[in-house]
Amino acid sequence: MMAPASKLRTVTILGATGSVGTSTANLIMEANATEPGRFDVVAVTALRNARGLAEQARRLKAHHAAIADEGALGELRERLAGTGITTSAGLQAINEAAAMPSDLVMAAIVGTAGLEPALTAVRRGAAIALANKECLVTAGHAFMAQARASGATILPVDSEHNAVFQILDGPANSEVATVTLTASGGPFRDWDLRRMACATIKEACAHPNWAMGAKISVDSATLMNKGLELIEAAHLFALTHEQLGVVIHRQSLVHALIEFVDGSIHAQMGAADMRLPIAHVLAYPERLRWRAPKLNLAQIGSLTFEAPDLSRFPALALAQACLRQGGGYPTILNAANEVAVEAFLNGQLPFLGVAEVCERVLNGFPHMAQSDHLDLAAILALDLEARHAARSAIAQSSTPISHIH
Ligand code: NDP
Repeated sequence: MMAPASKLRTVTILGATGSVGTSTANLIMEANATEPGRFDVVAVTALRNARGLAEQARRLKAHHAAIADEGALGELRERLAGTGITTSAGLQAINEAAAMPSDLVMAAIVGTAGLEPALTAVRRGAAIALANKECLVTAGHAFMAQARASGATILPVDSEHNAVFQILDGPANSEVATVTLTASGGPFRDWDLRRMACATIKEACAHPNWAMGAKISVDSATLMNKGLELIEAAHLFALTHEQLGVVIHRQSLVHALIEFVDGSIHAQMGAADMRLPIAHVLAYPERLRWRAPKLNLAQIGSLTFEAPDLSRFPALALAQACLRQGGGYPTILNAANEVAVEAFLNGQLPFLGVAEVCERVLNGFPHMAQSDHLDLAAILALDLEARHAARSAIAQSSTPISHIH
């Protein structure tokens, strides 16, 4: 159970050097400056950025810093010498950091690597500020079942899910007709397929509205991100695929819309700034007083909404199909996408190859829809198998990669 927000709240930040982790740290610094002792940071973690992790640990006055890459421990220790901040390294050290007692865990590791530490925090019944959407996409049933069993509160950080959470404040009840997530459309929303075929890494990561880490930026460019978010929303709010929709909204100011059975539609709005949902989950159930960016609607003038073009963004259609079919498909899709996005970011796959690889991998697992309730061991085995299949598909990919840079 969460401590009332007006009391000291102890926090752990998993993925403290990333985009969400840094915004979380900045908000905690700002809150502690206006209200000393509001947040106490128990532990911060990273993969291999020892310098960034040491900086975050020092400025947050964290008690512990854990780094996954054991080779980076020496540098981390050196940079934290004399501070009294304890250190540890290795994958197990990240789990141990998640297991340390704290009221709230910000789960902001990118990818399936974030699943185990997030589950560790869920198991001890902590409140989880869940940024890592891959947890729910790959293992949604197991993750939510564990949260119900331990009493852990899941506070969605993704702006669209945070919007739905703010409107509903709980799972969807029978009065919810539909939930629509908005999508900016990403950097290629006006590009034709010929141009997208030659898209560079830099262009794919240049999101028009949001500054984010590399993986989610590419996911936003393919619209896979929105597809993953549909699956995430289905688990978070117990919604069916028929209830979930997507609309392109270029301004990214309306984050989600809920239509109730009586035809009334509630929308949640706010600046396109991840600090807003992060501030919400940090202080929940209270509201954080901080220098939030203000919206001037008269200056903005108009908001636009349009249907997504599935022919240019097949990744969204794939994710919708996986959501519909359930079973192991979301796990396969998530794993294939992680491998394909990494290959794109390493210059081994052209932009359009990301969705192609995902489709090829999904087609290679024709009988995965049987069970909606794969256990964690089965999910992890399937994840590995799908990653292997994705690597083979990339190796066999005939598309020339000279287009990439
Ligand atoms: P970043 O890539 O910016 O940061 C990822 C963080 O996770 C870094 O601290 C990184 O450490 C750490 N990390 C990466 N891999 C591992 C690993 N194998 N083991 C342990 N730690 C690891 O990601 P974002 O902040 O953009 O995204 C984090 C999550 O939040 C993603 O799941 C994303 O989809 C979701 N999200 C992000 C949003 C955003 O605005 N950025 C919006 C909504 C959701 P190091 O620095 O050492 O590499």
